[in-house]
Amino acid sequence: MIIELLSNQKELAVTCQDVVRLFYPDAEIRLENTGECKLTLHIAADADGPAIKGTAQLKNDGTMALEQVSGDLETLPFSDDLRNHQKRLVKLALFRLLTKYTGLPAGPWGILTGIRPTKIVHRLLDAGWLPDSIQQYLTGAYDMSADKAVLLTDTALRQRAVLLTEKEARELISIYIGIPFCPTRCAYCSFPSYSVENSAGLVEPFLEALAGEIRGIGRAAGEMGLKVQTVYVGGGTPTVLDSEKMCRLLEVINDSLVSEATVEITLEAGRPDTVTMEKLESAIKQGVTRVSINPQTMNPGTLELIGRRHSPHQVADAFAMARQAGFKTINMDVIVGLPGETAADVQKTLSAITVFEPENLTVHTMAVKRASRINEAKDNFEISPAREVDKMLHLAHEAAGKMGMRPYYLYRQKNMVSPLENIGYARNGHDCIYNVQMIEERQTVIGLGGGAGSKFVGPGTWHLNSHYNPKDPDTYIRRIDEIIALKVDKLRSFD
Ligand code: SF4
Repeated sequence: MIIELLSNQKELAVTCQDVVRLFYPDAEIRLENTGECKLTLHIAADADGPAIKGTAQLKNDGTMALEQVSGDLETLPFSDDLRNHQKRLVKLALFRLLTKYTGLPAGPWGILTGIRPTKIVHRLLDAGWLPDSIQQYLTGAYDMSADKAVLLTDTALRQRAVLLTEKEARELISIYIGIPFCPTRCAYCSFPSYSVENSAGLVEPFLEALAGEIRGIGRAAGEMGLKVQTVYVGGGTPTVLDSEKMCRLLEVINDSLVSEATVEITLEAGRPDTVTMEKLESAIKQGVTRVSINPQTMNPGTLELIGRRHSPHQVADAFAMARQAGFKTINMDVIVGLPGETAADVQKTLSAITVFEPENLTVHTMAVKRASRINEAKDNFEISPAREVDKMLHLAHEAAGKMGMRPYYLYRQKNMVSPLENIGYARNGHDCIYNVQMIEERQTVIGLGGGAGSKFVGPGTWHLNSHYNPKDPDTYIRRIDEIIALKVDKLRSFD
């Protein structure tokens, strides 16, 4: 289907495409009049003093419909932000118009299509708003459901204890380390990940280059008086490295980055088939405080279908080893909406996980990313309907509650099979600080290694400058000197 989305302000049309996709996920959206399609949407923003208005109009053969939403800048928060309020009103008009026209249920997030919705709540809390008023504002200004407004506000309030002040943001940074190797590639994966078997000759030179980057950034940060608050070793699957290599990597991290200010080191042991007692014990010795063992599902058929070469038994064994090694914070990741799964399958997974008693549960809503195998071979995978995925997310929320956990971070993604969210749950005292800093973007996070992203954050303004390492290990190894020099430069110049 082709849809024309037209406006005399191109930027407005670009922004509003996301709202159209909520109703027509597979449509081709054109931003100019080609006269080739039946469904045409005209959008416009107006302002007359403090009075602002968003308009959306629909034409389809003989059908015409119009929706307008008005507002008064003087009664709105951040009243100097005219442009954003205008965009919001146009989105609201379009959302309401398409809800009526298509008869589809309005999604619980309303017009919020951004990745980090908690940021809106933090901005309002910074401006002195109270939680009740924030929830009221969210439901009215974004057509968000009351449930999601409460979830968002509660999650943001919990994060306030972890978010940095302007002064702290000048002193503390976090580090992400990307190991871009895995045993096999999962069907839904869009991360930088290469088969360790096929890349055997690259692993050692990659680790050498990475050690150089860790030392270079550690030195530069030290010279600037910056301390590392948290380290997250992810990927890929870091535990795919053999015990000696993994231990060497952790030693370099300790020597170059860790100080008395470091309160958390996470090690992704995502694929249970890569976990051994020796690796876990050496991680504990090297000061790792949190480990992540990720079943995604406990159904053997689904595990095979999505290309994870491990069994539910291996998940149980890896978890037991992590406890025995001494880990006090263990995370488990699950995905709701995996191909062919029903809510009953997810319930089975959750019941199995409950027995382990992890401290963290991270629940992702399945997203079909462009670079994934699922996207390339869509016909081979049966994707769960949105209503079923919604049920699964509710089951996960209930299970987390029963395990004594509450949401502590939340984000959304493009191309989710249902426009819902990803949520990290934690027991009290077990929130992953790195996850909060990374999603809320109030701390500089430097990414080292394959495909790792860095976010340089201006303290106080929270202005962001992002930078990405090459995904391909070969390019990373060849360009390592240039990569280190550029990153040190960015770190020194960003404020
Ligand atoms: S374990 Fe993670 S990084 Fe590795 S292939 Fe699977 S989804 Fe990708």
